[in-house]
Amino acid sequence: MTSTLPSSLPSRATAPEAGPSPVSLRIRERLDAAGVAYLANDNISDHLAPGEMEQLEIEVAGKVRELLRSLVIDIDNDHNTEETAERVARMYLHEVFKGRYHQQPKIASFPNVKKLDEIYTVGPISVRSACSHHLVPILGNCWIGIKPGDRVIGLSKFSRVADWVFSRPHIQEEAVMILADEIERLCEPQGLAILVKAQHYCMKWRGVKEPQTTMVNSVVRGDFRHDPSLKAEFFELVKQQESLY
Ligand SMILES: [Zn+2]
Repeated sequence: MTSTLPSSLPSRATAPEAGPSPVSLRIRERLDAAGVAYLANDNISDHLAPGEMEQLEIEVAGKVRELLRSLVIDIDNDHNTEETAERVARMYLHEVFKGRYHQQPKIASFPNVKKLDEIYTVGPISVRSACSHHLVPILGNCWIGIKPGDRVIGLSKFSRVADWVFSRPHIQEEAVMILADEIERLCEPQGLAILVKAQHYCMKWRGVKEPQTTMVNSVVRGDFRHDPSLKAEFFELVKQQESLY
């Protein structure tokens, strides 16, 4: 390894006594070398080597432990926070941010043999995310409208892909765009519309403390974008679905 590094690097960069580098550093260096983005709402699962998730879990738990110490919490004597660091590490890597580290769930698409071209909507699909700014929850519902193209996917698969996309730190506007990209990739619809209505805990729990405020945003593509009557039909169907709850 040492011989491949440019001689201009300070010697401490290669010093063996520095010990093995943190796994997150190795992964970041690998991503940088490949020119791959690793923003908060990017998925990096293709760039993780076997065993690295376990190593990440240990590294993150160590950092959370330090965070708790910096918050002047006596984790050595407080039975409630004794294993909080390990729980938080598992929660981030395998639950609330799993959409960054885990592969997309396997979703099979089928040929649209009957040439279905009537629009349909699926929802409400519950979505859970966290804001990139404070890492506090964003909880809401999502409706997806499809005008089928050459491929179709099962209804439950929309929930699976939405869960995977939203389980990352996000801002809501980007989450909706990324979900639209993934659905287009999966079933190439003639038209796609997505509406998300969510509550942001960074407005409810902290900051302005506005418990009633929700954020609604949508994306329309293909025929939903070009045909205003189709777009209106989507929002009408969503309104009907919403009134059922
Ligand atoms: Zn926030």
